Amino acid sequence: METEKIKCLIIGSGPAGYTAAIYASRANLAPVLYQGMEPGGQLTITTDIENFPGYPSGISGPAMMAEFEQQARKFGADIRGGIVTEADLSRRPFPVTVDGSKKIEAETLIVSTGATARYLPLESVQRFRGMGVSACATCDGFFYRGKRTAVVGGGDTACEEAVYLSTLCSHVCLIVRKDRLRASKAMQNRVMKTPNIEILFQYNVKEVLGDESGVTGATLEHCDGGEKGITVDGLFMAIGHYPNTAIFRGQIDLDPDGYIRTAPGTSRTNVPGVFAAGDVQDPVYRQAITAAASGCRAALDCERFLMVQGDETPNGNTRN
Ligand code: NDP
Repeated sequence: METEKIKCLIIGSGPAGYTAAIYASRANLAPVLYQGMEPGGQLTITTDIENFPGYPSGISGPAMMAEFEQQARKFGADIRGGIVTEADLSRRPFPVTVDGSKKIEAETLIVSTGATARYLPLESVQRFRGMGVSACATCDGFFYRGKRTAVVGGGDTACEEAVYLSTLCSHVCLIVRKDRLRASKAMQNRVMKTPNIEILFQYNVKEVLGDESGVTGATLEHCDGGEKGITVDGLFMAIGHYPNTAIFRGQIDLDPDGYIRTAPGTSRTNVPGVFAAGDVQDPVYRQAITAAASGCRAALDCERFLMVQGDETPNGNTRN
């Protein structure tokens, strides 16, 4: 198979990747975007997005991402299914492999691979993944209508998931390892005001219990050493995310948590020609709007980079 040459390769299809594709295609960079493992990214597993400006009535996550994609395609972005499995950042054009076999040489890279939900590192959590243990209440909550569930975590995600589940389930336990919630005051108030949410402070999950039909409960451990059993059919993880940077490790500057470091106020990484946008470089804000804005910056930074490199061909891509 011949190596395809691409001027601007975008990896990832969340708000950052699609926004980069919209800007890069309008700038005549003929971007190619690989959608990755979860086309549309994390927003495809949310319900309504009510805080994205321009949608006063809210919009569902999947619908919003379909519109982002449509807008990128409209300007000529080449959106493809596929996972970038290798990237060599030691020389430019960057050799990249897609789905383990397809070879590409990319003049520039925009990395917008996002972040993935964390699970508790317990054998019983792994055992019951997909059988009652989930990291997405909005995807799986439906299966627990009228049942008892629990959410692990004390941040905004945990509170949001608990409130969402409380509308479907008879009872929701929020299992918080500290003596306080980390979530915003507004989210805390919502949780406190919801009668069927019970907050269990200073508890950790020791073991998930279940049988061949799935989760039936969990054993919790209090910080003073005492144990408590809970009866639940579903256990939702909301303990944060890790950035999807495994293929770049050792090749690009990452922070101690694995997020790509960018020069302040830009999308530039320490590797010339590689730009980062969205959650993969943002452990703090993690919003659709901030991801989209950083995708715009990445496309503009990329365009300027190519201009300085003196690459004036309107479309440096080759096809095979
Ligand atoms: P956070 O990192 O804010 O919270 C993670 C929570 O999980 C913390 O309470 C943490 O506990 C707990 N935790 C972590 N590891 C473990 C563990 N091993 N066992 C038990 N508990 C654990 O992640 P979120 O996903 O909640 O939020 C990330 C960012 O996204 C935040 O900036 C948040 O504000 C934002 N966000 C905003 C929303 C909105 O505006 N609508 C909705 C969702 C998220 P501890 O506090 O002890 O560290």
